[in-house]
Amino acid sequence: MVRLQNQFLENSPFAGDGTMVAVELPEPDVQIITSDGRSIPAHSRILASASPVVERLIARPQKRRSSDRKIHILGVPYDAVFLFVQFLYSSKCDKEHMEKYGIHFLALSHVYFVPQLKQKCIGGLAEQLTIENVVDILQLARLCDAPDLYLKCLKLLSNNFNTVEETEGWKFLQNHDPRLELEILQFMDEAESRKKKTRRHREEQSLYLQLSEAMDCLEHICTEGCTSVGPYDTDPSKNKGPCSKFSTCHGLQLSIKHFATCERRVNGGCLRCKRMWQLFRLHSSICDQTDECRVPLCRHFKLKVQQDRKRDDAKWRLLVRKVVSAKAVYSLSLAKRKSEDELRATTNYYRMGSFEI
Ligand SMILES: [Zn+2]
Ligand SMILES: [Zn+2]
Ligand SMILES: [Zn+2]
Repeated sequence: MVRLQNQFLENSPFAGDGTMVAVELPEPDVQIITSDGRSIPAHSRILASASPVVERLIARPQKRRSSDRKIHILGVPYDAVFLFVQFLYSSKCDKEHMEKYGIHFLALSHVYFVPQLKQKCIGGLAEQLTIENVVDILQLARLCDAPDLYLKCLKLLSNNFNTVEETEGWKFLQNHDPRLELEILQFMDEAESRKKKTRRHREEQSLYLQLSEAMDCLEHICTEGCTSVGPYDTDPSKNKGPCSKFSTCHGLQLSIKHFATCERRVNGGCLRCKRMWQLFRLHSSICDQTDECRVPLCRHFKLKVQQDRKRDDAKWRLLVRKVVSAKAVYSLSLAKRKSEDELRATTNYYRMGSFEI
């Protein structure tokens, strides 16, 4: 046994208290040979306990009889190998070193199966991702079986594809790994269609919420009355100011007025009347009141449904279901609505009860 101040132990937990900078260790019994021919002396037992792959390498029978075993770690700069071996001794790695050699550490920790270092590399590299290095790190993450890092790279790449496309890394990949290029392009394609689907879903939800709000307003107009339309038996002079959903309510009031006075009506091809007609029908499909409901045409549609049960309209039932469920989440959601205020406001109060059915 010799009293050795080992270079790898400078950063080891033993050095932390400032008193035990020297530790009793046997003579190094293994040499790590790097690409530039330099060698790093180390202790086989320590390396073997930190890496099962190194353990197997050490256990291999030697070709030549020699006092020192040799392990070649090639293709990685000397400093990176040195720091890697230091990690095997101390389980520590500086942030500064991670920034400089993170890519090499990831490869080494994967090949020599050092999960603790690999996890540190995945976290460190994820923080260091840039447009310039994303393609290199993506390729490495794929080779080193680091799916989280790979996905992070893919997302950054697809969100910035126009700039990544100009980098040397991307051009290299295009020339040398067309299969990976295809994989990336497919991911981007799928991400785009996912985005489209979400957008479409959001638009649909917004429409159902608008309809649900229109249903609330319709009931409110027909039972209490709002600014310019109300039930025939309410006194317009006692009417309140604009309600809380006035942007929808106001447009609806104008449409009701139009519906009552329009000469073309539904059969005459008036689109506005047709829409109003459908809103009345929708109300009737949702309405659970019996004879007391004051919404025009409610009874009419209910009777019609009873008479005409066979003509079951699946599309319509689906619409009703969606509006009902949108109504249920209405209090939790704030849907963006297009203001319907483009309709010209009129000041005359309109009494209901004079609809012709
Ligand atoms: Zn109102
Ligand atoms: Zn009309
Ligand atoms: Zn009703």
